[in-house]
Amino acid sequence: MTRFSYSILARDGLARRGVISTPRGEIRTPAFMPVGTAATVKAMLPGSVRETGADILLGNTYHLMLRPGAERIARLGGLHRFMDWDRPILTDSGGFQVMSLSELRKLTEEGVRFRSHVDGSEHMLTPERSMEIQRLLGSDIVMCFDECPALPADRERIVESMRLSMRWARRSRDAFGDRPGHALFGIQQGGLEEDMRGESAEALASIGFDGYAIGGLAVGEGQEAMFACLDYAPGQLPDDKPRYLMGVGKPDDIVGAVQRGVDMFDCVLPSRSGRTGQALTRFGAVNLKNARHRDDPRPLDPECTCPCCTRYSRAYLHHVMRSGEIISSMLLTWHNLHYYQELMQGLRDAIEAGTLDAFAEGFHARRAEGDMAPV
Ligand SMILES: [Zn+2]
Repeated sequence: MTRFSYSILARDGLARRGVISTPRGEIRTPAFMPVGTAATVKAMLPGSVRETGADILLGNTYHLMLRPGAERIARLGGLHRFMDWDRPILTDSGGFQVMSLSELRKLTEEGVRFRSHVDGSEHMLTPERSMEIQRLLGSDIVMCFDECPALPADRERIVESMRLSMRWARRSRDAFGDRPGHALFGIQQGGLEEDMRGESAEALASIGFDGYAIGGLAVGEGQEAMFACLDYAPGQLPDDKPRYLMGVGKPDDIVGAVQRGVDMFDCVLPSRSGRTGQALTRFGAVNLKNARHRDDPRPLDPECTCPCCTRYSRAYLHHVMRSGEIISSMLLTWHNLHYYQELMQGLRDAIEAGTLDAFAEGFHARRAEGDMAPV
């Protein structure tokens, strides 16, 4: 049986081109994970998600534990079978979403007690329960249960929260146990405080994980502050394990983070934007709601090979968006996910070729040009 492993195939500056091997298939890194919150990447069939080039999906523990319930999914054969995705799945721990979505939260050393935003029922999430839920789901990459304050937060709050998360990381490790073929990732916290990020990284490394996430970023601090943190945070984590920047991000966030040594990403942006008429392209964002597209027979991006761009005009995309047709979400989500995966492939190729800086320069130059002029 294939065990979980990570190897670095090439480096360019701080960036790494690697591969994560799991019993459910390989994950090429740097990797982007589409978000399948409620056991579906909205508006996409799993086969279509795979066609865009995704090697792995992300599922949300918080949503799935509330509806339809982890025990129910386990009885139905696990999350892979339930949603018809047989490749790797990473699940978050529920910690972030319980803090952002639930009602009447009570945070203690033990865990978080809260009311469901779905039906008001009361639940308790602890490191042990989070590990159990992620095991019931059948997740391939399990995340430690952690707590993360919204930024800006004062240093005292950040230190206290980070140290609690490190105690929970120990409990997560103990509860996870030994599960060959499955991985447990630790999550670095510490806000924008370099010494606290360092203390967190040391605490995690001494426990020992299969991979390490950088948590607590992309929570409102802005790109400049995030990059300033990423100038040191990835380097504090073990070099020989994958590094995952949680909840990031926009295409330019990803390019900058890869240049700083990050290997894995997830974000709702490409799928969520697809449902609001926003296309993410090599020219930057294009809003198909805009009347300038009404008579435009050209594809969204003439160089893109996705079904949206090869088969439909901007005029059609504008029409179905304005008419509220379901195909609008389907086509734009497909394009956006395709664009993200093509960007990741470009980054991987550039690292292998040792041309990452030139790739990033070209990426920024095309976006600076902006969208093609109206017809
Ligand atoms: Zn396209």
